[in-house]
Amino acid sequence: MHSPYPAVFTDADHDHQRCVSRALAEAERVCIDRGQRFTTIRRKVFELIWQQHKPIGAYQILEELQQEARTAPPTVYRALDFLLNLGLIHRIASLNAFIGCVHPGATHEGYFFICSSCRTCAELNTAAISREIHQAAQQCGFVVQDSAVEVMGTCPDCTSTGKQQ
Ligand SMILES: [Zn+2]
Ligand SMILES: [Zn+2]
Ligand SMILES: [Zn+2]
Repeated sequence: MHSPYPAVFTDADHDHQRCVSRALAEAERVCIDRGQRFTTIRRKVFELIWQQHKPIGAYQILEELQQEARTAPPTVYRALDFLLNLGLIHRIASLNAFIGCVHPGATHEGYFFICSSCRTCAELNTAAISREIHQAAQQCGFVVQDSAVEVMGTCPDCTSTGKQQ
């Protein structure tokens, strides 16, 4: 169960290794809970996605993997599907790219603030958005399949350095 979780933009000089370590530990825990294997390729794809708090496209993931070893595109897509199905990553539709989930383990839709300047994303987790959407849908007899919310804007870093568009 997830409690309200405010969207947090990390400072440019934060200890990102801590984010990565925590994400890896949570991913391992989720895999064990679901009886799934966190195979080498799944782990590598996950680590590439967690390189930054910015979404990365499937093609870029493939390119980076291929710098190490020959990797077939379906291998990458299968790993992405696996990570998506387990809720370890989210797909940012407007950028056709993937980002690590900051609170995996509970099924939830992806709500994001996305910086249109540097592409940094912050995930929101407020049950209120989901509740409102599902209530509104119910009232008009609409059946929700997926309700990802992607809000474009300017992150605190870009705002303070005057990079907003
Ligand atoms: Zn970080
Ligand atoms: Zn998430
Ligand atoms: Zn930004």
